[in-house]
Amino acid sequence: MLDNKLEEKLSGIRTPFYYYEMDVLGLTVDNIKREADRYGFKVHYALKSNANPKILRILSSSGFGADCVSGNEIEMATECGFSSEDIVFAGVGKTDEEIITGIDNDIFCFNVESAEEVSIINDLSRKKEYISRISLRINPNVEANTHKYITTGIEESKFGINMRDIEDVTSLLGKLDNIELLGLHFHIGSQIRQMDAFKRLCSRINEILGWFEAHNVPVRHINVGGGLGINYDDPEELPDFAEYFGIFNEHLERNDEQVIHFEPGRSVTGQSGSLITRVLYVKKGTQTDFAVVDAGMTDLIRPALYSAHHKIENISSVKKHGKYNVVGPICESSDSFGKYIDLPETHRGDLLAIRSAGAYGEVMASNYNLRKKAVSVFSDEI
Ligand SMILES: *Cc1c(COP(=O)(O)O)cnc(C)c1O
Repeated sequence: MLDNKLEEKLSGIRTPFYYYEMDVLGLTVDNIKREADRYGFKVHYALKSNANPKILRILSSSGFGADCVSGNEIEMATECGFSSEDIVFAGVGKTDEEIITGIDNDIFCFNVESAEEVSIINDLSRKKEYISRISLRINPNVEANTHKYITTGIEESKFGINMRDIEDVTSLLGKLDNIELLGLHFHIGSQIRQMDAFKRLCSRINEILGWFEAHNVPVRHINVGGGLGINYDDPEELPDFAEYFGIFNEHLERNDEQVIHFEPGRSVTGQSGSLITRVLYVKKGTQTDFAVVDAGMTDLIRPALYSAHHKIENISSVKKHGKYNVVGPICESSDSFGKYIDLPETHRGDLLAIRSAGAYGEVMASNYNLRKKAVSVFSDEI
């Protein structure tokens, strides 16, 4: 529960805004570092989950690498202190310009998703007399049991190379002078809370490694992607990084030369951020009253886009409870943060905290309806 004392501190700030609890971020980072370092695992933070420069600087100075999905993310990562030798670049539709950004920044690795992309990276590298390091993103055909929009590792997904096409790609590699193959990349989806999915991924990777060994294609780097979920019902709970990294240590059959890479996003930043919004009106409904707030789907799109659930707290009121539909001001019925939500009695002017919004919140904001974007506020600055 965000403490009621916080209300005083936050009440002078123009709403809506993202509020980041820096101690939560610090604790999460320490946990990840400790548990990943145990096994020598390399962690590349997925910038797409939150690219706030202050947060990026904290993560780069804590020794994280960066996982980028656009040329601009590569540039942002280097500006915020990530060293280029720790940057990986994924994406099913990299433009020539973005590939050149990767080359010019001498990034660690392109995670490539098709034979055609490999050829294009080779051509662009040749023109610059450069050798690009790549990993093949393989579609492992592992069901992540998460929302269909964020499941990425099943066969009909647009991501990655299917194993039945892999030989075409590896035989092509032999003919390309400006490509060096580092290894393999996987990413099965996001907000995965059933750890069995990661065990299934490990078994599948073991099988795939067998294929590469049998075909004498060396694999030095194995990137298992991101996807570890957070508990949206309990914003105070941090993901179990010990269990997560432990699974890969136990179930991946790697040799001493192989380096394991991870790309967590949501699990790093998710629990540290809340969207703070003010109640504009409390409007009578037929069954449930509406709390109309000044934040909308333009500030946090996850509920509208994925029917995602975020815990909502009223940090101004502790009075007896009521049920509310918490809705935004945008002219779309999907602009709702939750139906039939248990809240203390709520009035105009109260501050609500929409919790666990540190990942895929601020970064997905838009100016739809010509709205201003929510600013970010950090607990160590107020
Ligand atoms: C989105 C994405 C990630 C991060 O996913 P999270 O669920 O936020 O951990 C990592 N790698 C790739 C390739 C991605 O597309």
